[in-house]
Amino acid sequence: MTAIGIMGGTFDPIHYGHLRAAEEVRQGFGLERVIFVPSGRPPHKPAEEVTAPEHRYVMTLLATADNPYFEVSRMEIDREGPSYTLDSLREFRRIYSPETALYFITGLDAVLGITSWNGYMELFDLADFIAVTRPGYSVQALSALGVYLGEDRFAKIHPFPVTLLAISSRDIRKRVREGKSTKYLVPDPVMKYIEKEGLYRRDADRRAVRPAGPDIMA
Ligand code: ATP
Ligand code: MG
Repeated sequence: MTAIGIMGGTFDPIHYGHLRAAEEVRQGFGLERVIFVPSGRPPHKPAEEVTAPEHRYVMTLLATADNPYFEVSRMEIDREGPSYTLDSLREFRRIYSPETALYFITGLDAVLGITSWNGYMELFDLADFIAVTRPGYSVQALSALGVYLGEDRFAKIHPFPVTLLAISSRDIRKRVREGKSTKYLVPDPVMKYIEKEGLYRRDADRRAVRPAGPDIMA
């Protein structure tokens, strides 16, 4: 039986926490590949705080390009409206035969909030969930979900310990804003893309480095 991993996320930006977790799950579960699915419009995050989908898509491509087992899907970027995992899993189920097992990979923090996801009961008809460990979140906390999901669905959440990397996109954005280095937190090509496009810098900083407006030309 073939098994495929699906790694959803905002990837704003993608970092080594995401990449290492995906790689360890791929090996641990014998997945044929892992498909990264950058969220187009994350329903749980304020739109004005999320970087344009195309930037996040390009960074995800750059970060995964050197791994033959990693792919990136545009499905949530191209779909209109809020990006629901439910719609994506339905789409993956249409693409792959019933013999292909689908494993949706999430961090513990994300899966602990699963009862707020659109149509969360149906998600478990479409895929299994791998809950990877993340610093600050305990596997024990998962058991509370059992009450909401029922035994059969709960059994489809598989906790999986990965190398704990205390890296978050939020922290990386903050470092860039403060002019601090992000080397060894994100892959070099992603770091260079962030610099080139001037992502995550405060407007004030961006204004400072841009050529000044017409008054300086006078
Ligand atoms: P933000 O700080 O903006 O929320 P993030 O670092 O949490 O960003 P997301 O794009 O929100 O990254 O996460 C995508 C998925 O990857 C989620 O399921 C999340 O739990 C998981 N994940 C993110 N960082 C790590 C990490 N360091 N270790 C394990 N899992 C992670
Ligand atoms: Mg997050």
